[in-house]
Amino acid sequence: MPIQQLSPDVAAQIAAGEVVERPASVVKELVENALDAGAGRIEVSVREGGVAEIRVTDDGCGIPAGEIDLAFRRHATSKLTTAADLESVATLGFRGEALPSIAAVSRVTLTTRTPNADAGMRVDYRYGERTAATELGCPVGTTVQAVELFGNLPARRRFLRSTAAETARVQEVVTRYALACPSVRFSFIADGRGVVNTTGSNRLSETILAIYGGEVAARMLPVYTVDADVTVDGYASAPELSRHNRSFMTLLVNGRWVYDRRILYAVEQAYQGVLPERRYPIAVVNLALPAELVDVNSHPTKREVRFRQESRLFSIVQRTVRDALLAHAPARTARRGPAVVDAPESPQDGWGRSASVSVPSGGQSGGAQQGVDAALPSAFPSQAAPLRQTLASLRVVGQIHQTYIVAEGDGGMFLVDQHAAHERVVYDRIMEQWAGRQHTSQPLLAPCTVELTFAQQDTLREYVELLAASGFDVAPFGDNAWLLRAVPPVLASNGVEPVQALTELLDAVAVEQVVMEREKALAATLACHGSVRAGMTLTTGEMTALLKQLEVTGEPHHCPHGRPTVVHFSEYQLEREFGRR
Ligand code: ADP
Ligand code: MG
Repeated sequence: MPIQQLSPDVAAQIAAGEVVERPASVVKELVENALDAGAGRIEVSVREGGVAEIRVTDDGCGIPAGEIDLAFRRHATSKLTTAADLESVATLGFRGEALPSIAAVSRVTLTTRTPNADAGMRVDYRYGERTAATELGCPVGTTVQAVELFGNLPARRRFLRSTAAETARVQEVVTRYALACPSVRFSFIADGRGVVNTTGSNRLSETILAIYGGEVAARMLPVYTVDADVTVDGYASAPELSRHNRSFMTLLVNGRWVYDRRILYAVEQAYQGVLPERRYPIAVVNLALPAELVDVNSHPTKREVRFRQESRLFSIVQRTVRDALLAHAPARTARRGPAVVDAPESPQDGWGRSASVSVPSGGQSGGAQQGVDAALPSAFPSQAAPLRQTLASLRVVGQIHQTYIVAEGDGGMFLVDQHAAHERVVYDRIMEQWAGRQHTSQPLLAPCTVELTFAQQDTLREYVELLAASGFDVAPFGDNAWLLRAVPPVLASNGVEPVQALTELLDAVAVEQVVMEREKALAATLACHGSVRAGMTLTTGEMTALLKQLEVTGEPHHCPHGRPTVVHFSEYQLEREFGRR
């Protein structure tokens, strides 16, 4: 075939293919348009997953009658004029492709009125062709209805999934934008059933409550930091709350919902050692940064962005979320009947979708309780004191099963796993020793020989320095035998069998692939052997001292293996159990 220019409608369909992949992409574009139009309320409804009908109604600025036709032309936009504007674009849209693309693959009816127009306009498009335009009375704002999506492209239609799956994707889009824009009231109706309803109160906390429910909302921690020209804010779940996939992590960049693997991974990384393998947090994190640090025009649907200073952003996000966990996370709540907390009315804590971001004031709540089971925690976010603060105020009551310390403190009863708590203390001490290169060592009264496997010997040679720094003195002693002459003081004082400790350490380190992780594994295993065991009677003095030591550790919430150290039974729970409430 000779080269020829494609006809405009073929070109339009190719372009539409990039923008409109499925019903959710139509909804994304229409919601973005509504937000760009300054809407305070956006209603999305779909039938049959959006294939039969998608309708998005907003109360935004509307489109002037004379500009409607232009809005349906490719590369026609009111949001940019020069290429230079692209550098600092603050609107969600700017490519001028959505309306023509949607109109190319469905039957579209757009009804719109601007505030100063006496009447509204309605235009109809049928697979790219305008079929009608009429004046009519309608409220200020815009409604776009798209029916029979891909009715002209049966091949595309076959790629769609089930109604339930497509509905879920649409719901995800609405949910993410609702989280991005707490000042906008969103509703989502699927096949006549209301699924999402946010308040538009401009409090992110209330949006989270409306979307994820009270159980989640009560366990979200405020995240906030300013690092020169970059601000990170939002909420991230307390360690006790997690999900089995990543779809509850929402990343916003200057109020725009984006997907960025690396930054999302930074959020995940903040939970390292806090959440078990393959568990993911719930988080809404907004990154507010100067327009020159981000290129929003790197993807046809603007789903992905490109960052300058990506590594810096990565570490800011990771550190901010991590700090939030350590600073704000209260003790884990015992499973049944979560803590109830009273919360004062808070100032505005949401962010708008503009580049300017308001700051969530820490530890506050909205009194929003609509639709929340009264038995659920009644406020958001958790008002329980951060664990470190709780530990400082604890009074030891006793010990049970020679395993758990019973203590009372502000807000109820606390059970402390003595082994887990001590492990954390010892682990921190070991890490400090390594960092400070203070070698302390306890010579064995009688040096002993150890038979090691080849694998164990490899590990030993690789970690000889770290082992020495820990206090091991171990030297070759012919064939596969080694002579153990000294052990770390933590092991000595705990009466641990030295040979067994060494071999277990070598095995534990060997399973970790990453060097950094191996170091931590070594410290964790060492800490485990060097800690008070379950089954050991402790005096009140010893227990009190242990709680004090735990208080000043880096991460008092959990032991180095990720098990919780402290579990909280709130006063409310106790009262409920005894029928006082
Ligand atoms: P873009 O959003 O990239 O500008 P679109 O094709 O999505 O391109 O929309 C084209 C133009 O139509 C927009 O620039 C805007 O001026 C107008 N428009 C679209 N949707 C709305 C809406 N819901 N309210 C007001 N104006 C709208
Ligand atoms: Mg648009």
